[in-house]
Amino acid sequence: MLIVMDKKATAEQIAKVVQTIEARGFTARPIPGGDRVSIGILNNEGPVDPAHFLGLAGVKEAIPVTRPYKLVSREVQPQDTVIRVGKVFIGQGHLTLMAGPCAIESEAQALTIAEKVKLAGGHIFRGGAFKPRTSPYTFQGLGLEGLKILAKVRKTYDLPVVTEVMDNETFDQVEQYADIVQIGTRNMQNFSLLKRAGQSQRPIMLKRGMAATLDEWLMAAEYIMAGGNPNVILCERGVRTFVRHSRNTLDLSVVPVVLKESHLPIIIDPSHAAGVRDQVIPLSRAAIAVGAHGLIVEVHHEPDNALSDGAQSLYPAQFARLCDYAQRVHALIREQEEEK
Ligand code: PEP
Ligand code: MN
Repeated sequence: MLIVMDKKATAEQIAKVVQTIEARGFTARPIPGGDRVSIGILNNEGPVDPAHFLGLAGVKEAIPVTRPYKLVSREVQPQDTVIRVGKVFIGQGHLTLMAGPCAIESEAQALTIAEKVKLAGGHIFRGGAFKPRTSPYTFQGLGLEGLKILAKVRKTYDLPVVTEVMDNETFDQVEQYADIVQIGTRNMQNFSLLKRAGQSQRPIMLKRGMAATLDEWLMAAEYIMAGGNPNVILCERGVRTFVRHSRNTLDLSVVPVVLKESHLPIIIDPSHAAGVRDQVIPLSRAAIAVGAHGLIVEVHHEPDNALSDGAQSLYPAQFARLCDYAQRVHALIREQEEEK
C-alpha cells in the first residue's frame, strides 16, 4: 500500500503515519516527491486495510498495491493455465469454440444443433438443463433429462459438453454429466456454490456477474482455486449499463487486463451480451482480436421456436461463418504475437 500525504502535511503528521505503520509490524518507507510525501508500506504479507490510515491527519489517499487475490494471479503463477477436456485445449495459444442452444429442449433439437456445431468446427457443445430464468412462468429446463441428452450428444458427436449448475443440491448430478460445469452470472458470488465447485474434479467456467468488478470476479475464481480446483475458465458475458441498443455491454476492455493479472483462460460470450443475433459475429471477431481464448455462442436451428434466447441465437450457417472468421482472426493475432 502507498499512503499519499497532503501537500500541506506537517513533519509531525508524516511521523505519526510512519509510527502507525510500524506499530502494525510493517516497514514504512517515506518517499519525498516534488510537492508531497508518499509513504510505502513494506513487509506486509497480505493486503493492508486502507481504513487504518485514511483517518489520520494529513493523509490524502491510501492506494492498494498488493492484489487481494493470490492463486488466480500471475504473480503466483506466471505461466498460462491450459485446461484439457478430452482432445480439446483451452487457454494459451488455443482457440476454443463452444456453441449450442441456450436450453436443451429435446433430444432431436440437441442432436440437430450438435451436428451443425460439429460440422462448422465447434469444439465443445453448450446447452442448459437447469435454466436460471427471470420469470418463473418460462421454460425452466429439462433438468436430469436434459443432462442425459447432453451425454447422448457427447457420445454421438464426440463433443465435450458444458452446462450450468444452479445450486448445491444438483451439483453432484451436473458434474456427473458435464465435461465443464458452468456457474452463471447470477451465481458468481454464490459462495457456497463456489466452495462446492472448488471440490469438483471438473473444470469450472465462471461467468462474470452482470455488475461485478474485475476484483470481485477474480476473487470468486479464487474461491474455486482455494477449494482445490485449479481448472477455472473465466467467461465475460456483458455487464449491465445504461444502453438500450444491446441486452448488456460486452466489456472487451477487461480481456487485456485479465490476461495481465491472471493466468486463467478467458472466454467471451457475445450472445448474452448482445441479446440480438446481428451483433454476435462482429463482437466475436473483436473478442478474438483483443486476445480472448475462445467463444461460447448460442446457436439454434429454429430460433423462432426456441424456448429461450431465440433472438440472440445464430442460425447454423451463421455459426459456420463465425468459426471461419474466428479461426482467421486468431491466426493473424498469433502471427503478430510471434513477430514481437
Ligand atoms: C447461459 O449461458 O445459458 C446463461 C444463462 O448465461 P448467463 O449466466 O451469462 O446469463
Ligand atoms: Mn441463454
